[in-house]
Amino acid sequence: MSLYDRFEQAFMPNYGVPPIALARGEGARVWDVDGRPYLDFIAGIATSSLGHAHPALVEAVSRQVATIAHTSNLFLHEPEVLLAERLLDLLNAPARVFFANSGTEANEAAYKLALKYGRREGRSFFVAAENGFHGRTIGALSLTGKPSIRDQFGPFPVDVRFVPYGDAAALKEAVTGDCIAVFLEPTQGEAGVVPPPEGYFEAAREICDSTGALLVADEIQSAIGRTGHWFAHQAEGVTPDILTLAKGLGGGMPIGACVGFGDAGKLFDKGDHGSTFGGNPVSCAAALAVLDNVDLDHVKTVAARLRTGLESVAHPLLKGVRGRGLWLAAVLAEPRSADLQRAAAEAGFLVNALQPDAVRIAPPLVVTAEEIDSFVAAFPAILQEAAK
Ligand SMILES: *Cc1c(COP(=O)(O)O)cnc(C)c1O
Repeated sequence: MSLYDRFEQAFMPNYGVPPIALARGEGARVWDVDGRPYLDFIAGIATSSLGHAHPALVEAVSRQVATIAHTSNLFLHEPEVLLAERLLDLLNAPARVFFANSGTEANEAAYKLALKYGRREGRSFFVAAENGFHGRTIGALSLTGKPSIRDQFGPFPVDVRFVPYGDAAALKEAVTGDCIAVFLEPTQGEAGVVPPPEGYFEAAREICDSTGALLVADEIQSAIGRTGHWFAHQAEGVTPDILTLAKGLGGGMPIGACVGFGDAGKLFDKGDHGSTFGGNPVSCAAALAVLDNVDLDHVKTVAARLRTGLESVAHPLLKGVRGRGLWLAAVLAEPRSADLQRAAAEAGFLVNALQPDAVRIAPPLVVTAEEIDSFVAAFPAILQEAAK
């Protein structure tokens, strides 16, 4: 029986059967179980920031696992303190950190922080964006604005009101004095890498300030250099009250973080929240290696090359390119993203059919100019194959 058949028989059907089984990687290159190489332009969903088997990540994780792999939160350890301090340093504002294991758990922490604030202030509902994605656990799912993945698991503990993303007037109308918090991605990832109109995040900040609602920036996909900035909100000139991180932070090791700025960082009392694995030494060591090795200038340089390259491709199936930094979507004139994903894999490139008409392109942050060029050079033929 093939690995694919065995997967199908052993696993719940929630993922379907992925079309490619990966065996190993090095830099931006991966090999499948049959030894076929691919250039990885999806990076485990914008997560493998340093690519695969980066020497610094290998060294940090190996050293830490051979020293002490786990302590639980009954004991503190130096890597978690170093990592929290590094993040606060990069954020450059008074704040406090909580470590979780994943994006959805980072958002659960944000949700509970906000709930504490809401109960104290007598506020009753959250606001989030249509098509937004915040995770799959019940709290984060309740904030996720995609009816097809949300609705069958309701009702949810707190009323969440959805507004069209990017519409500041709709946000202003929805955020009344009873609103506890507004959850927004600085650019919507799963919705199709959709940046908001200029000034939207600033408007959200003003709206929250005028009503006392907390602004929660879900930067689980956008942070840690993906956009060419450590955090996307920094480029918007806006500081949220709560920030959530995950994906790129651990370079492939599971870690999430919830950061509370100012008073929002002090909302939890002792015993209010916790995690056995959250902030474990190995994931923290990995994240420190990521922060030491992400080069924002390199990201900006190769991102500009990728964008210019893709924008120079003229093909009737390619309607445009949107996104930020090394986090782009090729927008198609027809709903053929699955065909394009397949054609790209045939040509030796991994990309991701994100929406029927949008393909996500998110290479590791260490991708080289030559690797970018080879993808751009192959793209017209991939489009042609997908259009057949
Ligand atoms: C991926 C993602 C999540 C969920 O993260 P998991 O680690 O899969 O739980 C939440 N918010 C955003 C913006 C994401 O991209």
